[in-house]
Formats: sequence, C-alpha cells, structure tokens
Amino acid sequence: MKRRAFLTTAAAVGAAATFTHEGAAAPLKKTAAALRLSCQEWVVSGSSLKEKVAKLARWEIEGLEVGGKGLAGKVTEIKNALRGSGVKVSAICAGFDGALGHHDPAERTKAITSMKAILEPAGELESTGLIFVPAFNHHQSKLSAWEVRTVLLDVLPELGDVAKKAGTRVILEPLNRKETIYVRLLADAAAIVRDVDHPAVAMMGDFYHMGIEETSDLGAFLSAGPYLRHVHLATTKGRLLPGQAERSYVEGFRGLKMLGYREYCSFECGVRGDRDVEIPKSVAFLKNEWEKAKV
Ligand code: MG
Repeated sequence: MKRRAFLTTAAAVGAAATFTHEGAAAPLKKTAAALRLSCQEWVVSGSSLKEKVAKLARWEIEGLEVGGKGLAGKVTEIKNALRGSGVKVSAICAGFDGALGHHDPAERTKAITSMKAILEPAGELESTGLIFVPAFNHHQSKLSAWEVRTVLLDVLPELGDVAKKAGTRVILEPLNRKETIYVRLLADAAAIVRDVDHPAVAMMGDFYHMGIEETSDLGAFLSAGPYLRHVHLATTKGRLLPGQAERSYVEGFRGLKMLGYREYCSFECGVRGDRDVEIPKSVAFLKNEWEKAKV
C-alpha cells in the first residue's frame, strides 16, 4: 500500500472508532464541558445518609458515590435520602467479591456473579456505572498483564450486556503500582475499552493514581477520550481533599474541557481538619482550578 493510501485508511478507521462508541462524548467540544462534583458517602460527615446528602446539596455537590457492598438492600434508603435534594447517585464504588483478573477461575466467577448482583440496583439508582479494578496486588494473581487483558476482553461484553440492560455501565479504574501491577495508565484502560467495544463498558481516571503513574494529566485524559466516564479527586501526596496538599488540577481540567467532559468528578480522599469546613473550601478551590483551565 502506498504511504498516502495507508494514512487515509488509518485516519478513517480512527474517526470511525471515535464516533461509533454509542453514547460517547464527542471529542473537542470546548463549550460542552462542565465541572460536576460528586462525593463518596464516607468522605462527608453526618449521622444519616439524609444529613450527608443535605450537606452535599448545600455545597453544590451534585453526585453521591456509594459503595456497592449490599447495594440491593440499600436502594430504598438511598432513594429516600436523595428525594427532593437535587443530588443524584453518581458511580458505585466496587463492593463485589473475587477479582476478574485472578488466576483462579473460581475467583473470576465470584467477581462476575457479585458484579452482576450490584449492576441491577445500580441501574435502579440511575448510577453512571460500577467501578471495578481487575485485581489488587493483595489478590496475588499469577496472571501476566497480557493474560488479564485477554480475560477482560472475554468477560466484559457479558458484564456490559447486564449493565446495559440495567441502565448503567461497568467502569474500569486504573490504579498505581503500589495497589495493582495490572492496568495503571488511562491510555491502557481506554485501549481495553476500545477493544471490548461495548456501549456499557467504560473507564475512568483518579487524580491520586494519575499523579504517581502518568507523565501528563492532560495527555492521560486525552488518551482516554470518549471512553472516560468518571473521575476521582484527591491530592497525590497524602491522598487528601484537593487544595489540602500541593497538586494542580488545571492541566487535567484542560483535558476534560477539550473532551467536552460532563460526567462526575468525585471526591475519594481523606480530609485534614473539620470536614464541614474543608469540603466547601475544596469545592471553591476546584471551581477556581476549572476556571484557570483554558482551552
Ligand atoms: Mg479511585
């Protein structure tokens, strides 16, 4: 094939891959991006979920991220806590058993079964997706990174079907090397999701892990492109509330703006000091970082 013909074909294939991912955000829509904040349930203080949700609404945090453990039994409580607040469930953070990337097929089956059991209530709560990690280091999986990738390509379409039917997604989260030897880069996670090619299979980025693994927040988010469906917020050092330790979000937010990102950015972090004082301060800090991110 002549060089020019090859380039034309490659460009056409690239464009098709971007736009056929059903429901995907079209890239490079500068004006469409929005900073929509969310908070994990355990980051905010309160004696009841209702009290926590009321605080989030007051602080203009739109999303509540909850754990997946026993989610089916918590649907009514969560719905009652959210009613009339304007706050919605964002992602569901793990809470399943086993590991999709385990060498033991029994552990893989356990993960598939328990993830499916969370996807049904996740859909009922209109969650954006169930966050999962293929395997933590403590699982001591003997599979190679390539074998785990192969397993993911094998099992994710099935989980995607269940997620789609329920009205939600599964969301692959890259971690840092201290927590997993497998998927650590957003580009890697995005390439897996691209190859799975399922409308209900997506990935995310976590500023804490990204600070350890990525060379550029901007580059990482652009690599993720339309497959990016969730973001976790924390400092790199100390994994604290944004603004509580040195860590800029501007380059990352530039990437989100370039993607036209409108999904949630969710606090997954520790808090130094009084949560009722520090969380609203962090919200103001992030809004300022978002403003500083020019595209
Ligand atoms: Mg995270």
